Amino acid sequence: MDSLYIKDAELERIKASIRENSMPEISVEDSYGKLLSLLVKISGAKKLLEIGALGGYSGLCLLRGLEGEGSLTSLELKQEFADVAHANLKQAGFKGRVEYRIGEALTTLQELENEGRTFDFFFIDADKGNYPNYLEWAIRLANPGAVIVGDNLVMRGRIFKAESTSPSVQAMKRFNEMMAADSRLEGVLLPAYDGLAIARVKTKSND
Ligand code: SAH
Ligand code: MG
Repeated sequence: MDSLYIKDAELERIKASIRENSMPEISVEDSYGKLLSLLVKISGAKKLLEIGALGGYSGLCLLRGLEGEGSLTSLELKQEFADVAHANLKQAGFKGRVEYRIGEALTTLQELENEGRTFDFFFIDADKGNYPNYLEWAIRLANPGAVIVGDNLVMRGRIFKAESTSPSVQAMKRFNEMMAADSRLEGVLLPAYDGLAIARVKTKSND
């Protein structure tokens, strides 16, 4: 089915820049990138938060979903990756619409809360061991009805190995359980490619 999509020159250019900079080639799947644009558009989200920028591929997909005003805050551990992502988004015409915050995402999330920042849309796509923590943070920083999306929840099949004791697999199992069944969320797990989870925040209250 992937062959049915028309190749997108801007997104292909971002992938080329990731290769040229010897960065990991782990941008979100093309069709899930399109889904991110669609979900932002359908939900009408304006304030977007991404955890894990890499080269800006998902960042561009998220920004493309905005109609009218809105902006992206992107959390990234590595300054050099954020620099590549920033250059790519400027080139794609989104100068001034994206803010990169460098460092451990858990630290930055606490800073965002201290600043009173809230968001309508979250894309979680960084270190797997922290996915349940990122999900808790997303719920805390969520505006009413916010959408939360998580990537790579299948972990190339590792998630299906019942005997796995790896902390990152355990964390992802917990994340998937929460996205599917936490009382604060209504969500689905899409198992195609490397898995994508989509949920809407029903309520921020845990009881
Ligand atoms: N969302 C991107 C891909 C992200 S890859 C896209 O689809 O285009 C995962 C990214 O998370 C990497 O760039 C990595 O440097 C970053 N990362 C890993 N651990 C992190 C952490 N603890 N805090 C913030 N970013 C982290
Ligand atoms: Mg990913």
